[in-house]
Amino acid sequence: MVTKNYKFWFATGSQDLYGDECLKKVAEHSRIIVEKLNESGILPFEIVWKPTLIDNASIRRLFNEANSDEACAGVITWMHTFSPAKSWILGLQEYRKPLLHLHTQFNQEIPYDTIDMDFMNENQSAHGDREYGHIVTRMGIERKVVVGHWSSEQVQERIAQWMRTAVGIMESSHIRVVRVADNMRNVAVTEGDKVEAQIKFGWEIDAYPVNEIAQYVADVPQADVNALVEEYYDKYQILLEGRDEKEFRNHVAVQAQIEIGFEKFLTEKNYQAIVTHFGDLGSLKQLPGLAIQRLMEKGYGFGGEGDWKTAAMVRLMKIMTSGMKDAKGTSFMEDYTYNLVPGKEGILEAHMLEVCPSISEGPIGIKVCPLSMGDREDPARLVFTSKTGPGIATSLIDLGDRFRLIINEVDCKKVEKPMPKLPVATAFWTPKPDLSVGAESWILAGGAHHTAFSYDLTAEQMVDWADAMGIESVVIDGATTIRGLKNELKWNSMYYMLKR
Ligand code: MN
Repeated sequence: MVTKNYKFWFATGSQDLYGDECLKKVAEHSRIIVEKLNESGILPFEIVWKPTLIDNASIRRLFNEANSDEACAGVITWMHTFSPAKSWILGLQEYRKPLLHLHTQFNQEIPYDTIDMDFMNENQSAHGDREYGHIVTRMGIERKVVVGHWSSEQVQERIAQWMRTAVGIMESSHIRVVRVADNMRNVAVTEGDKVEAQIKFGWEIDAYPVNEIAQYVADVPQADVNALVEEYYDKYQILLEGRDEKEFRNHVAVQAQIEIGFEKFLTEKNYQAIVTHFGDLGSLKQLPGLAIQRLMEKGYGFGGEGDWKTAAMVRLMKIMTSGMKDAKGTSFMEDYTYNLVPGKEGILEAHMLEVCPSISEGPIGIKVCPLSMGDREDPARLVFTSKTGPGIATSLIDLGDRFRLIINEVDCKKVEKPMPKLPVATAFWTPKPDLSVGAESWILAGGAHHTAFSYDLTAEQMVDWADAMGIESVVIDGATTIRGLKNELKWNSMYYMLKR
């Protein structure tokens, strides 16, 4: 998982009407806010303080410097006093990175005993931030607004989440997906317009003949394969289930060889996500299972059956959660089968093999079992069950005239009983607001069976990302009703028709 050491700039707005004494205070206050935010331990990236902006020229210069500084992932703006917003027009017009409007104030409480007009003129964010917010809205610029005192943990948490979204916006254009197979024949939802995806998201999606990557696998030295197999045997439980130990190890070795060969290919050619297809494996001996699971754990995106949209989304969501303290995991996933028992409704999530071990809870085992699809030898795979708690399942679809990102809040649970005959990693969740309305909404919105799933991101973050990309997003959550959703879809279709 290679990510840049991003920083965010803090720009405070004012004007020269208030005199040097006031401007000194403004600068001092913004310095303290930046210092304390950086010390909070909540923000995943550093904030860099910038001198107070008081006129057109300084504002324009700052935004252009932010554009050209590769380490800058966004600008946080705050109007300590009143800053006439016409001064912001040119700078905002030329600015191209994520923008946060932190609507805060230096003091938390009104100083009832001492407040006078000087204090009011110096501390008027309620006034100045409205003038600034007006021009950003009038100019139709996407930005995040976070409201509250800068010392509040909740405010800091929202800034932290926005920072991760901003990095997702910045890094989206660095995602390159390799297709080692085309889309599964006749499947609709995994298809899409790759040119439009590059225009909207910056993704590069390239195809290679499967045997070109298979050659990288064939070229892996035996000693490297043996070493990785040893690592697997140390790290995971070996679940022979009656198979011959030597034969089992050979099957595992095939996956180790694929892992090393694929990673070499991806690194050399600078790809961060990959799609495979069980029906197009060339000279590969097994469907990449364990190998893909391990690559996903390292931060690569993946999509099955040629699904490059989900592969890129998995990569994106892994970037957004990278380095997160106590992260619970992010994975490619597929809606497989239901439990429809009243009160126990949920969807059993899995794939043929490829579920990321970052979402696992408890021991991880290796099994070698036949695959009912494809025509290769029994692939080795990691098996486990997943963590409980809230998460989001996302599906990016191509509607022909636009992309839509569907985001469903889900509640992950343990299944009631073990499933000893099911040789794949699984998760189990109940979509919000409940299975019936959740699944009905998902289907009405056109969501796929494949999803990019994470425990560590919120629907709000994904909506902000979609807004920044200029695409439609639809959230299915606790407040969703079918009538409301159907109207939303209709209204959205009109909005995007007009927007084109
Ligand atoms: Mn699939």
